[in-house]
Amino acid sequence: METIGIRVRFAPSPTGPLHLGGVRTALYNYLFAKQTNGKFILRIEDTDQNRFVPGAEEYIIKSLQWCGLEFDEDLTKGGPCAPYKQSERSAIYKDYIKILLDKGHAYLAFDTASELEEARNKFSTGHEQFQYGIKTRMLMKNSLSMTTDEVKSRIDRGDRYVVRILIPENQTILFTDLIRGEVNVLSDSLDDKVLFKSDGLPTYHLANVVDDYLMKITHVIRGEEWLPSAPMHLLLYRFFGWEGSMPQFAHLPLILKPDGNGKLSKRDGDRLGFPVFPMEWKDPLANEVSHGYKEDGYLPEAFINMIALLGWNPGTEQEIFSMQELIEAFSIDRINKSGAKYDPAKAKWFNHKYIQLKTDEELFTYLDPVLKANGISADREFVLRAISLVKERVELLPDLWKNTVFFFRAPESYDQNVKQKIWTDATPVIIEEFANLVGNIQQFDNEHLHNIIQEFTASRKIKTGQLMNPLRLLVVGSNQGPGMMDIAVLLGRDIFLERIKKGLRNI
Ligand code: GLU
Repeated sequence: METIGIRVRFAPSPTGPLHLGGVRTALYNYLFAKQTNGKFILRIEDTDQNRFVPGAEEYIIKSLQWCGLEFDEDLTKGGPCAPYKQSERSAIYKDYIKILLDKGHAYLAFDTASELEEARNKFSTGHEQFQYGIKTRMLMKNSLSMTTDEVKSRIDRGDRYVVRILIPENQTILFTDLIRGEVNVLSDSLDDKVLFKSDGLPTYHLANVVDDYLMKITHVIRGEEWLPSAPMHLLLYRFFGWEGSMPQFAHLPLILKPDGNGKLSKRDGDRLGFPVFPMEWKDPLANEVSHGYKEDGYLPEAFINMIALLGWNPGTEQEIFSMQELIEAFSIDRINKSGAKYDPAKAKWFNHKYIQLKTDEELFTYLDPVLKANGISADREFVLRAISLVKERVELLPDLWKNTVFFFRAPESYDQNVKQKIWTDATPVIIEEFANLVGNIQQFDNEHLHNIIQEFTASRKIKTGQLMNPLRLLVVGSNQGPGMMDIAVLLGRDIFLERIKKGLRNI
C-alpha cells in the first residue's frame, strides 16, 4: 500500500449531534490515515443555513476529542487548505459554479416553490416520483427552456434562481467502491440536482466535490447514505476535468438496530435504554437532553474499540484493541458490505474489560471527585482497597460509587426482600453471639475471622449462610458486594460491630 500522500477527511454538517455512525466514519478515516502516515482532516460542511443547529459544531469537535481522534488539519490548527469551514469558503464556490455554467454543464432554474410543487403533483405517478431532469427540464422555467432575453430580464428584475447540474443523457458512470466493488449507473437515472442555491451558497454536492479536490483528498470514506450521490459527484469530477485526481470511494455499511431491521436511531436508544451519541447532547431547539457514552460512564478507549468492530473485523478472534493496535490492524477490505447490528450488552462488555485494565489508582481519579461531591473524606489507602474489592463488578464508571458506597456510609435501610428470605427468629441471637466472639478475637483479619466463623457455625450446627447472609444485610443493607470477610476487614472491627448493633436495632 502507498504510504505517503494519503489525505482523508471527516466532513460533518453541524445539523445536530454526532451519531454512533458518524463517530465510526471519523474513526475509520483516522485509522486509515494513521496507518499510512497520511493526513486526517476535519472539514465543517455548513452551507445549509436552514439546518444549522447552534452548538452542534462545538459538540462534534468536543466529542471527537473525547474519542481521542486528533486531526492534522482543522479549524483551530489550520493547514495548507484553510479555511476548513465551508461557510468561510463561499467565494471559492462561486468561481467553480461559473466554470460549470461556462462549459454548459449547469444551468439556471427560476422555478418557484409553488411551481415545483405543481410539477411534483402533475408528473408523479404511482410508481415514479417527479425528477427534475432529462425528461422534464424543458417543461420547467430555466435557462434551457427560456430564451436568452427572457433569462436576462428575469435576472435583471431580481428573480431568484438556483443553478442545477445538467445531467447528460445515456452516459455510463462506472467506479469501483473499495467496499462494494463495481458500481455502474446510467446517467439517465440521475436528476438535475441543485448545485448552487439562491442564497449565494453552494449545496453539499458542489462544495463537497470542490473541496475534496482542492484539499487533495485521496480517499472518501463515508456513510452508505451518500452512495446514491456518488455517481453525480463523479460527473462533477468529469465536468471539471479532474477525473485524474478523483479520490477513491468507500461507502460504509449502516449501523442497525439491536432488534429488527433498519438503521439505528436515537429512538431505538431511548426505547432500549442506551445512548446513541458519544456525549450528552442538549438539543437547543427541542429543549431535550440525550444521554451520552461519556456521561453514562464509558471509557473512551472502550467506546472506540466497540465502534471499530461495528462493521469491520480483524479476521482473527481478537476483540480488545488499543488505538495503536487498531491503527495497525485496520484495513478497508475487511469492512463488511452488510449492516452491523448494534449490541448494547457488548458495549458494556467492552467497558467492563477496559475497567479491569485500569489500575486502582486510575479508578481512584474517577471515584475521588464523587466522594468529595458526596461530602465524604476518606483515607486514600482505604479508597484504593475498596476499589480493588469491587473492581471486577464494575461495568460503567458510576458503578464504582454504587458498589463502594457502603464502605463509606452505614446502610440507612435494609432490603426487605432479602430479609424475608434469610431472616429467622433465631437470627438475632446468632448474630449477637457471633458479635461477642468477634469482640474478643486477638486480631481482626481474614484468617482469624475465618477460623472463628468455622468454629462458631460448627458449634451452633448452622450453615455458614445462616450467619453470613444476615451479617451482610446488616453491614451492607443488601445481599450485594464482595466477600463478606473482605468487607469486614476493610471496615475494621469497630465499624463492623457498630453496624451490626445498629442494624439489629433498626432492621
Ligand atoms: N456533510 C456530509 C455529512 O454530513 C458529508 C458526506 C461526505 O463525507 O461526503 O455526512
